Amino acid sequence: MDTIVSASSQASGALTGRNAVVTGSTSGIGLGIARALAAAGANIMINGFGDRIEIEALCASLARELGVAVRYSDADMSRAESIAGMMKEAAGALGPIDILVNNAGIQHVAPIEGFPRAKWDAILSINLSAAFHTTQAVIAGMKARRWGRIVNIASAHGLVASPFKSAYVAAKHGLVGLTKVTALEGAADGVTANAVCPGYVWTPLVEKQIPDQARAHNMTRADVIKNVLLANQPIQRFATVDELAALVTFLCSDHAQSITGAALPVDGGWTAH
Ligand code: NAD
Repeated sequence: MDTIVSASSQASGALTGRNAVVTGSTSGIGLGIARALAAAGANIMINGFGDRIEIEALCASLARELGVAVRYSDADMSRAESIAGMMKEAAGALGPIDILVNNAGIQHVAPIEGFPRAKWDAILSINLSAAFHTTQAVIAGMKARRWGRIVNIASAHGLVASPFKSAYVAAKHGLVGLTKVTALEGAADGVTANAVCPGYVWTPLVEKQIPDQARAHNMTRADVIKNVLLANQPIQRFATVDELAALVTFLCSDHAQSITGAALPVDGGWTAH
């Protein structure tokens, strides 16, 4: 069962009164984005997996601290019917959805010849198809209200490739393409759509792939961090969740109304190569 935590509306900020869904927001970049949007005044639907008691406590503290309504759904982004249920629930509980951030994503690292088919299917459905399903649920309403913001968290791997990430690179390139189509379809009606393309950001998703990368490249953990993860990132450090969250909050503001159809790298110079 899903949980509502609401607070009296004390929030004031650039997004006050806006209602936002952030997929995959129980951890990492998505949680940072949800927190930043709530701090700017938006009511939030949190989504993702994790310990329900901890997530409920998190929702309660966000609502209390920031004076916005916070709702949680554990809908599985690999299943179209779960996504439809979550989007319906979000609109019912918060009101019409003004801001959609498609952030949920998983990774699997293996050469093509050994890449498990089930992993291919899961990555394509969570990292790409879910964004189509959520967008389909909100775009007509956004157009009718002549205001909407859709931000798709793609990756530097939406712009360039690396070995052993066939499904992820295919899904993220697809997500950049979906973003462009969404931007064109929403342009006349005040709906923007942009992709954010991070290089490496230090989150659980990156931590989890280090052992697989070490196996695939036959390297130590330290060598994977230096010679694989940061090898293509000229700034030689990980981007931060706060940097990503600040950009997404800006893209969701009125000041970003002329930015649409873009794929914005936050990759420390990676795609400048
Ligand atoms: P993370 O593992 O910390 O968080 C992923 C979130 O997605 C979690 O909340 C998780 O519960 C949720 N999730 C996973 N599968 C789900 C499913 N089936 N249904 C619903 N929720 C699900 O990862 P992160 O590093 O914060 O990544 C967030 C996004 O940023 C992903 O799309 C990822 O591809 C992208 N990205 C991350 C990096 C990086 O270096 N961390 C770089 C580029 C792009």
